[in-house]
Amino acid sequence: MFLKDHYRSSSVNIISPACKSPIAMRRILKSLGAVRKVHGARAMDIAQKEKAVFVSGMSSAGNSKSVIHRGAGVATEEMAGDMPPRRASGLNKPTVWNEFTPLARATSAVNLGQGFPDCPPPAFVARAAAAAFQNPQVSMYAPTRGHPRLLEAIARKHSSQLKREIKGTANVLATVGASEGIFLAVQSFVEEGDEVVVIEPAFDLYFSSIQMANAVARHVPLRSKSEQPSSSSELHIDMDELESAFSQKTRLLILNSPHNPTGKVFTQDEKEQIARVLRKYPDCLVLSDEVYEHLTFDGAKHVPFAATAPDMWDRTISLYTFGKTFSATGWKLGWAVAPVNLIQRMVNIQQHIVFCVPHPIQEAAAEAMESAEKPYEGSSSYYEYVTDTFNRKKDKLLDILRKTSLVPMDPEGGLFIMCNTTGVKAFVGKLPEEEEAIISAGNLEIDPSTRNLSDYNFCRWMTMDEEDAAGFQEPVVGVTDFSITGSSSCDYSDSSCAPVHDESSSRMQLYSRSG
Ligand code: PMP
Repeated sequence: MFLKDHYRSSSVNIISPACKSPIAMRRILKSLGAVRKVHGARAMDIAQKEKAVFVSGMSSAGNSKSVIHRGAGVATEEMAGDMPPRRASGLNKPTVWNEFTPLARATSAVNLGQGFPDCPPPAFVARAAAAAFQNPQVSMYAPTRGHPRLLEAIARKHSSQLKREIKGTANVLATVGASEGIFLAVQSFVEEGDEVVVIEPAFDLYFSSIQMANAVARHVPLRSKSEQPSSSSELHIDMDELESAFSQKTRLLILNSPHNPTGKVFTQDEKEQIARVLRKYPDCLVLSDEVYEHLTFDGAKHVPFAATAPDMWDRTISLYTFGKTFSATGWKLGWAVAPVNLIQRMVNIQQHIVFCVPHPIQEAAAEAMESAEKPYEGSSSYYEYVTDTFNRKKDKLLDILRKTSLVPMDPEGGLFIMCNTTGVKAFVGKLPEEEEAIISAGNLEIDPSTRNLSDYNFCRWMTMDEEDAAGFQEPVVGVTDFSITGSSSCDYSDSSCAPVHDESSSRMQLYSRSG
């Protein structure tokens, strides 16, 4: 019925892959007439070019799960006709990854937008993976909480960091990357209508997790006294502003240090000030995202928020990832560390989401984490080696950026370098015709809602025009040698994002959409 109504109410063509549609679906299409059947994968492409409605069947039972892609997959709708549930509304919108990853690939640009180390995992990690996948003992489901050997390795690591005994079987939960840890923590502790305070700019998954819990995000910006902070250490939270974002409905505060995308590492003093605010709200927990724990620069030191004071441990869920530290983001292994009562709530939900994290990955990670504590390549441990290596890479990239018209802000940690783009020559905010032509010739998609946003166009231009962009004096291609990712993707369109600097004219207002 939905398809019929849809067809009658619109003048678009319908294209269907000839052999794939289930019988009931084919009958409906036949009854509509004017449906062109196109064989194989080409159907989607043709639909895209002709802006036709593309219909394919996903269930042999008929129409209930068939999917309509309007304008070739820009939007998908269940044939039953329902809108997505409120918790998922808007999640079908393209993200920066849909556009910029293919664009960077098509133009051979160095993609600094996504938070991953672009060097392979070290040999000892790769060896551990090879062995784990040949080990039949870890080929089947793992316990929901995690593979005991991994839980032990994690507990050892964090006991010394937190200066308290962490028990693998009580205080740790393995997750599918820190991303699942964020989702789980929000699902476990946040009720519909609750409020979650987020320091901005911020990693975008926080907001979708809050939305999927039907909760409300309250935004507190990082501020800077100077118009052009030279280091992320100049960014700060206005504690009055933080406190005013809290209410009796506040259930969670999300902190992230080292911070994506600014590189800020919160100081002990700042953490104590945050703790003072939190003490006025005993029902508020803290989600402390510490995925960049080992990427700190120039002597900045990461200390977990949970170590700020014993009562902060009591209310904090700390999240970590294997991916950033071991150059293995594709393994999607993360973990949460928290008091037993908090972890148990997350375990309860975990068993109904993925049940467990892939077992061989956990075995390999356990082996890698045990080895990482030993001396490595002249450093006292692999962790120390990673910190030193990324320090050098960060310095090299900063040197290169300083030779351009971009003005970088020194990060104290993390994988990103934010730059002031005000000085980039002759960029007018509209995508130049030449670049428009490259995009349409390459059949590359632009999210229409971002077409007139100058920061998006700036990034498109930077991606496509390496000679003019940023006034580079040297070939930009040299950056690849340093294997460092950096620079945040931006989204001026998202009103939930808050400025780093107050003055709206400043191009320091870069926002995080960075993964
Ligand atoms: N938190 C932050 C701040 C991140 O930047 C990222 C990844 N970019 C994640 C969490 C997700 O980590 P994972 O890949 O382990 O899911």
